[in-house]
Amino acid sequence: MLEIEKGVRRVTFPLPFGIDHVHCYLLRASDGGWTLVDTGLGTRDPEARWRPVLDELDGPIERIVVTHMHPDHVGGAADVSAVTGAAVLQGRADYAQCVGAWGRRDPERWNAYWRGNGMPESSVESLSEESARLVAAVHWFEGPELLEAGDDVDGWHVELLPGHADGHIVLVRDGVMIAGDVILGRITPTIGVYPNSRPDPLGDYFETLTRIEGLGLRVAYAGHHEPVLDPAGRAREIRAHHVERLRRTVDALDDEPATPYAVSLDLFGTELTPTLRRFATAEALAHLERLVREGRVARVDGGFVKA
Ligand SMILES: [Zn+2]
Repeated sequence: MLEIEKGVRRVTFPLPFGIDHVHCYLLRASDGGWTLVDTGLGTRDPEARWRPVLDELDGPIERIVVTHMHPDHVGGAADVSAVTGAAVLQGRADYAQCVGAWGRRDPERWNAYWRGNGMPESSVESLSEESARLVAAVHWFEGPELLEAGDDVDGWHVELLPGHADGHIVLVRDGVMIAGDVILGRITPTIGVYPNSRPDPLGDYFETLTRIEGLGLRVAYAGHHEPVLDPAGRAREIRAHHVERLRRTVDALDDEPATPYAVSLDLFGTELTPTLRRFATAEALAHLERLVREGRVARVDGGFVKA
């Protein structure tokens, strides 16, 4: 456990896929205990994972805040709650997404979605197997206290910043953001269109980046990699990255309809694991949907064409 600034500690767990680690944060609470933000993946032995963390703290974990419903953030929520008895707090919109994704999981519909976006059958099958393995590690918490934008959690202000996830929340206080994956240092947060998700997540994310620039932040402590020391500057970099990727997406199209999967091969190359291909396909679709709204791309039978 690392004290990254007074009253903010960071604990890091390994991840078995994609990014190899995730950070959770502990915030000193006003009554001497701690607020935990994000929970890593669920494990078979929650006691073994969390007891050493609790032993290092000088007070109890009193509440658990989940920034968003992705497996590496919500996955351990029920585990830590069981070990500590702490209440779980989650954004209202995010919790609805969480129930849709993990509580009413529908593998057939999920597979049909990727097939419909051009993914070949062999990839759909390996993806389906990977998803089944992943779902076993998502111990989301049923019936959390629901948070709204503008709420206060022990002196921290709740902001709703959609894009990476539709209902992504962050905590902000005195120029410090506990950011989840809203902004990251070394990589850009994935932005994708999924079944049940908002129709234009990249449009949402552009608004989120503008909001981040306006929050007067000194630092953002993110779910992965090192702290972001100039969040406003990083927000501008990430915007420029997506503007460039929108341009490349238009370039990948002509008058023959192309599927999001085919566009993802152009944008991200052909050598990706099934899970990374899923991110790539969802991300290509997010760029195509934004471009449709900008009038630069048209949706036709069988895919997308240059407008
Ligand atoms: Zn993450």
